[in-house]
Amino acid sequence: MTIAPEAAQNTLDKMQTAKPSLAGMTRDGLKAALAAAGVPEKQLRMRAGQLWGWMYAHGFTNFDQMSDVSKELRRTLADLYTLDRPEIVSEQISIDGTRKWLLRLPKRGHEARAPEVETVYIPESDRGTLCISSQVGCTLTCSFCHTGTQKLVRNLEAQEIVAQIMLARDRIGDWPSSETPADSRLLPNAERKITNVVLMGMGEPLYNFDNVKAAMEVASDDAGLSLSKRRITLSTSGVVPEIPRWGDESGTMLAISLHATNDALRDELVPLNKKYPIAELLDACRNYPGLSNAKRITFEYVMLKGVNDSLADARALVRLLAGIPAKINLIPFNPWPNTKYECSDWQTIERFADVVNRAGYASPVRTPRGRDILAACGQLRSESVRLRASERTSAPDTAT
Ligand code: SAH
Ligand code: SF4
Repeated sequence: MTIAPEAAQNTLDKMQTAKPSLAGMTRDGLKAALAAAGVPEKQLRMRAGQLWGWMYAHGFTNFDQMSDVSKELRRTLADLYTLDRPEIVSEQISIDGTRKWLLRLPKRGHEARAPEVETVYIPESDRGTLCISSQVGCTLTCSFCHTGTQKLVRNLEAQEIVAQIMLARDRIGDWPSSETPADSRLLPNAERKITNVVLMGMGEPLYNFDNVKAAMEVASDDAGLSLSKRRITLSTSGVVPEIPRWGDESGTMLAISLHATNDALRDELVPLNKKYPIAELLDACRNYPGLSNAKRITFEYVMLKGVNDSLADARALVRLLAGIPAKINLIPFNPWPNTKYECSDWQTIERFADVVNRAGYASPVRTPRGRDILAACGQLRSESVRLRASERTSAPDTAT
């Protein structure tokens, strides 16, 4: 019997929705799932704690590995749930070791297609940074950003944000007790660990506040993934009203996508500036809870040739940030197909950096990583609205 591809897909979708995954769930979510599996109210806390450790401290993907959970409960859980990660549509590895995953998330009831997001891992000598997405697409339309050309499909759920970290840990062999997976392309040992997480992938995280916050609670939980909040950075294009709330409620580090030193230019580059202009944005920064020399705000500044890269711009930048405990991150513009912008010349970036350095900000240029696989800042854009799988194999951004 031949099954039409669409019918097969429907069956597959039904199977996927029939058994939800617990991977990435918050404690409350986990308790609700356990209650639905018949675990008595009195035991919920304890059982959720057991699962939490196996899922988040050990990275187990199979209920049978959970030795302190009764056989009966393991069977019930396996009947009802999985510990599956999001499906990997593609995994690309850059010549510099950067890895990019295109992930397909389980479809929700009303969605015509399963949404896709990108997650990027950037190994460096002293750290490993995971760049995660908070939305599928983005409502904002920053003119130099590839993600901004993709309409918002939807917010990610907390579980889907956490699952990106779990999947990356699986793929790079970063669970404490994990045996080396059969993947010949694994990175060398010294470069394996995810030490930092940045919310700099697709989307504006402050427009998905509650889910991002819940996800970062899971990521920083000591009994699980245990990432230090000092090593989690949320990057925002400047959603001013949410900045104090984020500082109060989350306690993570903050990065601001500044990119221009006057409102006329910032209106053009980051259209949200029309709503929340530079003065208001910097006021929110000055008042950021916990701000100190030990906990500085990072200001991101993308270097666009002939647009914002003059020495006068550099001096204006330094003047603007005077008095704010700040780090400045100069980001060479990462090009993407059909963009009208070019990256500033290297010499221009160096001269710009000199001005910034002389004002007391150290090593500010962010080395572009993973450019060959369109994994660098602002190059992310999930394929969900762009290419079909068959087309993707010949696309220029699938270089590995
Ligand atoms: N929406 C958030 C976080 C995601 S963007 C924000 O805008 O801050 C992460 C960073 O990449 C931001 O600083 C963004 O301005 C920058 N970026 C976007 N497109 C870029 C590009 N093509 N080249 C270099 N940096 C880019
Ligand atoms: Fe959205 Fe950030 Fe890109 Fe602007 S730079 S379009 S806010 S993802």
